[in-house]
Amino acid sequence: MTRLLLIGPPGAGKGTQARWIAEKLGIVAVSTGDIFRQNVQSQSPLGLAAASYINAGEFVPDSITNAMVRDRLAQQDVRHGFLLDGYPRTPGQVNFLDETLAERGLELDVVLQLTADTEELVERLLKRANRENRADDTAEIIRHRMALYFEQTTAVTDLYLERGILTKVEGAGAISDVSDRISVALDVALGLLAETPC
Ligand code: ADP
Repeated sequence: MTRLLLIGPPGAGKGTQARWIAEKLGIVAVSTGDIFRQNVQSQSPLGLAAASYINAGEFVPDSITNAMVRDRLAQQDVRHGFLLDGYPRTPGQVNFLDETLAERGLELDVVLQLTADTEELVERLLKRANRENRADDTAEIIRHRMALYFEQTTAVTDLYLERGILTKVEGAGAISDVSDRISVALDVALGLLAETPC
């Protein structure tokens, strides 16, 4: 049973890699961005509360995001492990996740951080904007999301670095090359985990 977090800047191919990792490990991928987008589309109360933040490229407030993740992690399908994509993004969310997992005697095993050059990321996102027509993929909002990511993420990754569970993977290049690097990094990280006496 593996509990992973995938963290990376907008445009680093997180969603694609998250689905691939989840399949490889036989666990569920939980993407807060996807859950938000589905709720915005169906105009649920959660979607209505979150839409203005998402469309402006702002973080949805922790009170809304944390409650949503708590509900998601209470579902049966995550009992055999999960891969979180896009959460936690703030130190407050890290604490909340720690508490939520601790209530069940659980903790995160591995945090994978995808790294990439900002210029390449902006280029990728602008291409995606043409393809997927996402409201938050305009040049200005992309830059804002990028700045927010770098501003907030260091605090989050530092916490996991201190715990010794952070692994960095270069996210530039072809999807399959990144998957290969992730595969190697995971083998090492999960291998080490298996050797750690409980
Ligand atoms: P990206 O990382 O490419 O910006 P995501 O699909 O992960 O895209 O998230 C899209 C949007 O959903 C974010 O810009 C934000 O508004 C909201 N969101 C997703 N995850 C979180 C989170 N953990 N905390 C706050 N807002 C979030």
